[in-house]
Amino acid sequence: MPVDSRFAATDTDVIVVGAGFAGLYLAYRLSRAGYRLRVLEAAPDLGGTWYWNRYPGARVDVPSVDYMYSFDPDWQQDWQWSEKYATQPEILRYLHHVADKHDLRRHITCGTRVEQARWDEDNAVWHVCTGHDHDITARFLVMATGCLSVPKHVDIPGMERFAGEVYFTSRWPHDPVDFTGKRVAVIGTGSSGVQSIPMIARQAGRLVVFQRTPTFSVPAGNGPLPAQKLELLATDEAGYRQAARMSPAGVPMVRSQTPTFSVPAEERRQRYETAWEAGELLVLLNAFADVMSDREANEEFAEFIRGKIRAVVDDPQTASALCPTTYPVGSKRPCLDTGYYATYNLPYVRLVDVATDPIRGITETGIDTAAESFEFDALVFATGFDALTGALAAIDITGRDAVPLKDDWANGPATYLGLMTAGFPNLFLITGPGSPSVLSNMAVSIEQHVDWVVDCLTDLRAGGFEVIEPTKSAQTGWMRHVDDCAGMTLYACANSWYLGANVPGKPRVFMPYAGGVDFYRAACDEVVARDYLGFARSGSAGVRCNDGVVRRLQPDVQMLLEQMAAAGSPPLESMSADDARAFYALWRSALPPGPEVGEVVDGVLDGDGVELAYRLYRPPSAGPYPVVVYFHGGGCVLGDATTDDAFCRDLCARSDAIFISVDYRHAPETPFPAAVLDGMTAVRWAAANATELGGDPGRLAVCGWSAGGNIAAAVCQIARDAGAPEIVGQALVTPATDYDFTRKSYSDNADGYGLTTSAVRWLFGHYAREADRTDPRLAPLYAESLAGLPPAVVATAEFDPVRDEGDAYARALAAAGVATEHIRARGHTHDSLTLVGFVLSGAPVRAEIADALRRFLAAERLAIH
Ligand SMILES: Cc1cc2nc3c(=O)[nH]c(=O)nc-3n(C[C@H](O)[C@H](O)[C@H](O)COP(=O)(O)OP(=O)(O)OC[C@H]3O[C@@H](n4cnc5c(N)ncnc54)[C@H](O)[C@@H]3O)c2cc1C
Repeated sequence: MPVDSRFAATDTDVIVVGAGFAGLYLAYRLSRAGYRLRVLEAAPDLGGTWYWNRYPGARVDVPSVDYMYSFDPDWQQDWQWSEKYATQPEILRYLHHVADKHDLRRHITCGTRVEQARWDEDNAVWHVCTGHDHDITARFLVMATGCLSVPKHVDIPGMERFAGEVYFTSRWPHDPVDFTGKRVAVIGTGSSGVQSIPMIARQAGRLVVFQRTPTFSVPAGNGPLPAQKLELLATDEAGYRQAARMSPAGVPMVRSQTPTFSVPAEERRQRYETAWEAGELLVLLNAFADVMSDREANEEFAEFIRGKIRAVVDDPQTASALCPTTYPVGSKRPCLDTGYYATYNLPYVRLVDVATDPIRGITETGIDTAAESFEFDALVFATGFDALTGALAAIDITGRDAVPLKDDWANGPATYLGLMTAGFPNLFLITGPGSPSVLSNMAVSIEQHVDWVVDCLTDLRAGGFEVIEPTKSAQTGWMRHVDDCAGMTLYACANSWYLGANVPGKPRVFMPYAGGVDFYRAACDEVVARDYLGFARSGSAGVRCNDGVVRRLQPDVQMLLEQMAAAGSPPLESMSADDARAFYALWRSALPPGPEVGEVVDGVLDGDGVELAYRLYRPPSAGPYPVVVYFHGGGCVLGDATTDDAFCRDLCARSDAIFISVDYRHAPETPFPAAVLDGMTAVRWAAANATELGGDPGRLAVCGWSAGGNIAAAVCQIARDAGAPEIVGQALVTPATDYDFTRKSYSDNADGYGLTTSAVRWLFGHYAREADRTDPRLAPLYAESLAGLPPAVVATAEFDPVRDEGDAYARALAAAGVATEHIRARGHTHDSLTLVGFVLSGAPVRAEIADALRRFLAAERLAIH
């Protein structure tokens, strides 16, 4: 039902490629929304994944009641799942049932492979060419071609020579295969291998499994539908489905907030046991908050699973070969199984580890490895898929200016929201790269994508637009966000199909969106709410380009800010100084503890008649150590020597230096310049007492965050002018350096990023008077000269009101000839770099700061000078 079009008429409004889970729902939504549509499917029948993958043991690995459409809530009346994890035939029957119930077959043409799709710029039309040489035109083209629909090409020498039976799990015959008494080889131990091996072993006379990489597999505990889920669905199905949509992975579940090592060993073991017993993959990886982000945490869990494998498999050598050790658990897709490991205890089942005994080739009668020749009656290839991009690459797609998609994606796929790609107008992807896709319950992800696409077409129609395309900058921004999400995880530590590593020559790019179904949905919804941010649209209503990047914050920073906004904390400036201190101390004490260090000692230093409390952090290595005097943040009003505990621990451990976090007097009771004078006192004391503290007196640096950065900078200037003590380096983290509220960052980042401009004004108002403004001890940027100051590392954060003054100081230091490293922390806020264990994306920045400190403090470097 196109609006009065400037463009040529088309055969149909929308062509959908693929009649799997996604194609069927597209047919449902598009037909109900009044579009003319054609669904083209290569297979002889509908069903997609569940049409093709008929191998013995093929099952869903998300509970059946979760892996189904939510648009049809009366399923409980007309559809009953028989098991917790339904088999392939049952899922296929379900898809047929849905197609029949909603009269979807009339839109679908099976046995029709799309071979070419060409964007015709002049007419704003997609020309789609099928294997039958038909050219069909449509305004919109939706690729529901599946993420796991193109089997990986098997390239073992001699494949064509084998005279026996050959099967591929992804293209299993429709007639039953009988392996009774036969000698069977299974090549591959991914999900299809793990599911089929126990079933094939029931019949085979002899079974040899060829394994390249062992897999982490969890017993499915299959059986009746989980009573708890059924009860939830019976009482409030709408609520249950909504919880799935707003969950991390598409199954109702609360994201774990508990770091592994924050609880004792026995509690950890119990949690692992519970996760194991649940027999649910998505629950498994949520055992602790950091399973997928912390190598040590992951390794402990991996070892727990390895223990389970060893407990089942009798032969220690086989057990050892079945235990994955080369990648973190979860970084390759884990499997759910029924009796997989126990199968290897059968006397006629054997495992060949091709990592140690590689396959040389396939012969007429079997398989030759480096060490042995095997004879078989049947070979079963469970060798996986060209995932996420394989089906798109198999079609000759050309977009604007006749650019082929294959060329455009030569270095890896690039999409906006996983839904569209720049240069290919009106082409939509379902669960494409850049969306949660294969990391999620795909039933939920498919529904979300289809809903977004159909709603988008409806919005276009209502707005008088007929063409939509993402902008390059929106796409680049999104891909950076996808990378940021992946960068916080351990996914890159495995050679997985998520990265394309299973297909020779495929670019190594982590393709899915690892930020979670909930955060992803929020981004998609936000794009629409902000009038299709990042899209250009055109049609009878004219041209509208709403360029922009939807996610600019680091993912964990965004998550934190959302949590803080939801908590609805009162603004600092609405409190008294005492209440603000109490509130701030409570917040900082609730943060994760930070890494272990060698020793933590609390003390009081006595200098120049002033007593200042301090907390000293000693590295675990052997001393003597360099010494860093640290000044906490808090605007010279809030905080104390202990409020930046985790940050100090982290920097101490990373830089291998003693950190002494010192108190200084606070405003409004003791305003400027008391804090700076105390800072100077602390530095003199540390220099004089370095040896007794286990430090090296010649190697003294200063470090500070926020107002503490301001004090550190001022102290360096005072020490330079006084000629002592010698400070060999300064690390300034999001420092205030002139409190110039006219700077752009004060307006750009005034609100919504933790520290607000009005909070800085409030703190400044307590600390100093306008008349002090040009005193370099308050505003180090006003110093007559910055020459001769110690080498500096200055870290500034993109979404920080004080960003511009930190930037200005870094520039001024460099201009004065001071060796200066300036780290611009992209997507960070004033606080986020200090939130150790909470904001993982801050870790690389802290590592850079610590590296700089190490260089400043290196004994050899100082000896040369
Ligand atoms: C063995 C197996 C088990 C799985 N288990 C789960 C699970 O437990 N949970 C889960 O969330 N996901 C699972 N998946 C992922 C599964 O692919 C999705 O859940 C879902 O079925 C995908 O639906 P789809 O419609 O997007 O794609 P598909 O089901 O793959 O359908 C795509 C269709 O497009 C057709 N097609 C492709 N190219 C062309 C072309 N050029 N022309 C015409 N037609 C074309 C294909 O023939 C196919 O029928 C599993 C995948 C496999 C392979």
